[in-house]
Amino acid sequence: MEAVRIRTWYGIIAVIEIRNRSFHRAGLGKFIMPHPPVVNWLLRRGMRNDFCRRLSILHELGHLQTLPGIFLYSLGMGLWIYHQKPVSLLELGMILLGIHAFWELLAELYVRFQAGPLYRLYYRGVGRFPRILFWSTMAVFTLLSWKILLS
Ligand SMILES: [Zn+2]
Repeated sequence: MEAVRIRTWYGIIAVIEIRNRSFHRAGLGKFIMPHPPVVNWLLRRGMRNDFCRRLSILHELGHLQTLPGIFLYSLGMGLWIYHQKPVSLLELGMILLGIHAFWELLAELYVRFQAGPLYRLYYRGVGRFPRILFWSTMAVFTLLSWKILLS
């Protein structure tokens, strides 16, 4: 399959290649990261291949569109740790996990808004459990990182 090229709102070209359900490449310009699409695999279980591909492209694009935001979010947490709240290595790992989980939530919210009414249509007949698992675990990891920072 051809890679999809889309200009992000901050002007850099996003490159997304959904080769199949177990191998994706996505990145900006020449920085393209191959990765196992764990979240897309979980969220699109039981979905038709063409729908899965469309939503997976949107999800990867969601990561890239929200990248400046997640960068500032991470920077803010880093500054907070530096000035206010020294953390252990384990806590730091949990905070990094929480940042990633928050980024997953943002990427999938992007999919939800971009797909609009199609989102529900694509999920017709697809089991709810993977989606419940995704939203709840990502929310818990996000909240845990806040709890560590604010405790
Ligand atoms: Zn993701």
